[in-house]
Amino acid sequence: MGLFSFFLQGFFPPACRSCGCLVLREDVFCDACFATIKPVVTVMFALSQKRMVTVYAAGAYEGPLRCLVLQKLKGDILASKQLGTCMIALLPLQSISCDLIIPIPLHWTRYARRGYNQTWYSAKTIAPVMKAPVISLLRRTKKTLYQSTLSKSDRQKNLEGAFVLVPKYRHLAEHYLAGKHIVLVDDLYTTGATVKAAAQVLACYNPASITVVVACRAI
Ligand SMILES: [Zn+2]
Repeated sequence: MGLFSFFLQGFFPPACRSCGCLVLREDVFCDACFATIKPVVTVMFALSQKRMVTVYAAGAYEGPLRCLVLQKLKGDILASKQLGTCMIALLPLQSISCDLIIPIPLHWTRYARRGYNQTWYSAKTIAPVMKAPVISLLRRTKKTLYQSTLSKSDRQKNLEGAFVLVPKYRHLAEHYLAGKHIVLVDDLYTTGATVKAAAQVLACYNPASITVVVACRAI
């Protein structure tokens, strides 16, 4: 620990992100709060007739995990990294085939307002465990409305054509993605419309698999 962080810790000792009680420096939640994270089953959706996508979620979108996801609205980058820490603690990440991690991007207007993409920090946190690089291969072209404000059918329409490849990575996609295992990372999975729209762009390049890893799934 550097002198500066040691000094800071004296003033701001590590606290549970849910109840605020003291925890060990590397812990996100105290044991009691961690125990309230509700596990969710792994689900699958069909992207096409031939391609199934598996969705792993660290837990349900409630309690301590929901608290942590909502911190992005306050610009809390540490919370986004800690969502990655929760994914490591609660998911069998090492057993998921992965050559490349792609975070779900924000539209640039939302990025400009927030100053960072929370999902990129979660992706960077899990990357050493998944032993794969993080590449922001996708761009969000449509300023989509907040999904939570829409009905189920409107969510799909809202996201149609919402993602494209970042132009500088087109060459990489055309020559590298075929036969590779791609992991898409997002903070929250509700209807799956967002990751489905992103996966459809990547599926054009014939990867071996597309897997989704999220912090929370709404149930
Ligand atoms: Zn706690």
